[in-house]
Amino acid sequence: MDPDTIQICSICGGSGWEPIEGKGVRQCRCRRESRSQTLLGRANIPPRYQRCSFENFEPTCPSVQRALMVSRKYVDEYPVIDIGLLFIGTCGVGKTHLATAILTGLINKGVPALFYDFRDLLKEIQDSYNPNTHTSELRILTPVFDAEVLVLDELGANKPTEWVQETITHIITKRYNDSKATIFTTNYQDYALAGSPYSETLTDRIGIRLRSRLREMCRLVLIEGEDYRERIRDRRGSRFVSEP
Ligand SMILES: [Zn+2]
Repeated sequence: MDPDTIQICSICGGSGWEPIEGKGVRQCRCRRESRSQTLLGRANIPPRYQRCSFENFEPTCPSVQRALMVSRKYVDEYPVIDIGLLFIGTCGVGKTHLATAILTGLINKGVPALFYDFRDLLKEIQDSYNPNTHTSELRILTPVFDAEVLVLDELGANKPTEWVQETITHIITKRYNDSKATIFTTNYQDYALAGSPYSETLTDRIGIRLRSRLREMCRLVLIEGEDYRERIRDRRGSRFVSEP
């Protein structure tokens, strides 16, 4: 047990129940916070994104501002809202920041949630076939299936081999059948953009069946910066050389 939790809480005196005048008791903040901390520790959020919140997100244009509003609303309304979100937008518009902020917001509400980069997930599954790693495929997949809310970042980032498509279809179909919300981010658009490094569409990357499944299980959040077209053009130059 965390040594901090041994300290006696000044609100509930260690009982876990906080008295509310005239109304009885409710679960004490110390228990709620300790549950959130536990969930956060299991959420697999990469260190780079661990501090991402709505408060430190700076929308750069109306489209990003709308995405922020949708994200906040999602946390407020969950679990009344039972579908996921699909963030589509180019690199650097803040999709992962928003997805992580949603995840953290839900965890603070006590919702067990998990983060996975699409590429890392596939790599871990692939590695699990290696007899030397002593990890089974199921050990990787069980938390992915079980998480009440899953963020799958960078959907479509892997080369769409048959194995990749089968694996991702399996994961998403399972979560869909279990009525579990999944939040996706992707750099791939529904329509090919001339001159963009992402000239392939999301359908090209994940297959037509899965793209249509995502329509049923997600609300689309399209993020287009005001300077979007310029940035797409700039990509032909060297401004975004570090991107894939
Ligand atoms: Zn307490």
